[in-house]
Amino acid sequence: MPWSSSNRRARFNKGWYKKRKQILDRDHHVCQWPVEDGNGFPAGICGRPARAVDHRRHDMAHDDDRDSNLWSLCDWHHNIKTQMESAEGKRKRARRNRERAYYDHPAFK
Ligand SMILES: [Zn+2]
Repeated sequence: MPWSSSNRRARFNKGWYKKRKQILDRDHHVCQWPVEDGNGFPAGICGRPARAVDHRRHDMAHDDDRDSNLWSLCDWHHNIKTQMESAEGKRKRARRNRERAYYDHPAFK
């Protein structure tokens, strides 16, 4: 698990289990990911069977658990989004590591 697991753990409690079911029911258990037609116009939603409930917006410090920020995703789109978020996290970590490396330079000791 990535370093952010500490603030993710809270989601896997009983409350989250109930919330997840509630969101899946609201979304009729289909993926809400917006899709486009060949010309880039909105063409509704993915509509494949959804098993994951995800935060639309996600920042590292805080998960917004309001219903409006939660949506159902199919495995495929959940994977894509998780990869996007972890790529973002990697960039942030890389920047921090670079800064640390800078101040760890022997010249500063
Ligand atoms: Zn989907």
